[in-house]
Order: sequence, then structure tokens, then C-alpha cells
Amino acid sequence: EVIVENVHKSFGTVEVLKGVSLKVKKGEVFALIGRSGSGKSTLLRCMNGLEKVNSGHIEIAGHAMSRDPAQLRKLRTDVGIVFQSYNLFPHLSVGENIMLAPRIVRNVAKSEARNTAKEVLKLVGLSEKFDAYPDELSGGQQQRVAIARSLAMQPKVMLFDEVTSALDPELTEEVLSVMEQLARDGMTMILVTHEMGFAKRVATRTIFMHQGTIWEEGASREMFANPRTPEMRQFVKSDV
Ligand code: ATP
Ligand code: MG
Repeated sequence: EVIVENVHKSFGTVEVLKGVSLKVKKGEVFALIGRSGSGKSTLLRCMNGLEKVNSGHIEIAGHAMSRDPAQLRKLRTDVGIVFQSYNLFPHLSVGENIMLAPRIVRNVAKSEARNTAKEVLKLVGLSEKFDAYPDELSGGQQQRVAIARSLAMQPKVMLFDEVTSALDPELTEEVLSVMEQLARDGMTMILVTHEMGFAKRVATRTIFMHQGTIWEEGASREMFANPRTPEMRQFVKSDV
């Protein structure tokens, strides 16, 4: 479902991704961990075409990464991405926020978009908030709406970039449990996270990035129990 082959990415003269390759099969959940600045967000953004790679090849949800805008649009409709900041439109209700992209990008009829919005809201445990406005919700609820909004596009792959790092612990839990449910339902997911317990429990595989390379990769449980490299061992110990 996701193929990344020898991807290089530089900002100016600084090479941030130095030949990254990985493969994620349908239904697999990958955790992406590593120190600040190791290139995790850049890698996710490349996977969604938000950043252009300098070289290498990316294929995701059956679409080859391309500079062609039409092709890129197709890819993006199948790949959901959720960030730390939820970026909901404040002047639109929760329901309207969720219906927006399906209506505009997928050209879905209003009644169908509404039904889908209700379904995905239920999935994230917020059925009763359809008519609420973002500023009437807690941070955790807003983040769950952001996830629901992504799901309304019926993506084949979901990318999450530290979606809980701005949240208090209780709110973190409610968002993580939504992600865990998604994983159980078979969604293909790649998630950047600082929640090591969550990565260990929910991710089938974990990738430890270090200085723009995949330093260590393996089955999550095994990797956390027995880090092979000193860098990963140090990282897990400091538990950032
Ligand atoms: P964090 O855990 O802090 O989110 P990260 O692993 O996600 O870190 P990236 O955001 O991918 O790291 O950044 C990797 C490197 O690329 C950093 O050195 C960063 O300063 C640099 N970088 C990222 N985006 C840009 C940009 N748009 N322009 C220039 N440099 C950038
Ligand atoms: Mg980041």
C-alpha cells in the first residue's frame, strides 16, 4: 500500500532525508519515532506530496507520486493526513467542516456527505457534536473531528503527525483510542508519535529515524524490548 524507495530530500544545502526506503502493506500500522529534527515530519509530508522529493520513488494507495497536479490530487484523496494542529474552519460547524472536502473534492451530493459525516463522527465518538462549532469543543474533541474529517474522504492510508502532542494526558487518551480502533478496523496507518507505549502496543512495526535515515526497523514489541543500536537504546531510555 505504501512504497518508499531511496528518497532523498534537501532543504537548500541541508539533506534531511538521506535515502529512505520502506514498505507498508495493507492493514499494517507503522510507528515512526526518532529525535526532533531526524526527518519524521518531512518523510510524512513527502508521502502526501506536501514536499517534493529530490530523488527516489514513492507509491501510495496505488498512486505513483507525481508533480502532475491532477495525479497529485488523486493521490491526496486516498491519503489522509492529520497534524498536531487541527486546523478546523472556525466559522463552520463540525458537520460542515467534515462535509467540505467530500463535497468539493469528491463532488459528493449533500445528503450523502451528511450521512458520511454522521458515520465518521460516530466512529470518533462525537455523534452529538454535528452542529457544534470548533471553539465549543475541547482540544481532544477538535482533534477527533480533524480525524473524522480525514476519514470522510474514505482514505486508503492515514498519516498522523504527532496528533496528540498538544493535548493534556486525558485528552491524549481519547484520541489514541480512536486511532487504536482505526487500526483494529484494518486501516493502513503510519504515525509519528512520542507515545512509546502506544507505538509498542498498536504499531505492528516501528521505524526509528536518525539523522535522515532509517536507523532501525522491526516488529514493535521486539524493537522496544531489544533495541539493536545504541542510538535507539538511548532514545527509548530518555523516553521523549
Ligand atoms: P520533530 O520531532 O521536532 O517534529 P522531525 O523528525 O519531524 O522533528 P522534520 O520536521 O522532518 O523533523 O525536520 C527535519 C529537518 O529538516 C530539521 O533540521 C528541520 O529544521 C529541517 N526542515 C524541515 N522543514 C524545513 C523547511 N521547510 N525548510 C528548511 N528546513 C526544514
Ligand atoms: Mg515533526
